Amino acid sequence: MAVVLPAVVEELLSEMAAAVQESARSTGPSSSKTYTCLASCHYCSCPAFAFSVLRKSDSILCKHLLAVYLSQVMRTCQQLSVSDKQLTDILLMEKKQEA
Ligand SMILES: [Zn+2]
Repeated sequence: MAVVLPAVVEELLSEMAAAVQESARSTGPSSSKTYTCLASCHYCSCPAFAFSVLRKSDSILCKHLLAVYLSQVMRTCQQLSVSDKQLTDILLMEKKQEA
C-alpha cells in the first residue's frame, strides 16, 4: 500500500527545502507574508486555512499550523509572552496589511 503524504505536509517540506537553499545562497530579503497562527485555538489567518479548512473542509490544518505544531514537538519553538494589548496590536497590524 502506497503511503501518500497530505498536501500540506508536502507543501511544508518543499518550502523548508527551498528556505534552506535560499539561506545558503543568501539572496536578498524574503518576500513571504506574515500570518498569525493561533495554535492554542487552532486558527491561522492565511488564505489556505480559510479556504481548505474553514470553507471546503478538505484539510484539517495549513502548513503554518503544521510548522507550529512540529516546532512545539521538537522544542524548537521560541515562546514570547505578550499582553492583551500587544496581541491586539499584532492582529490590527495584520488587518491593515490586508487593506
Ligand atoms: Zn496558515
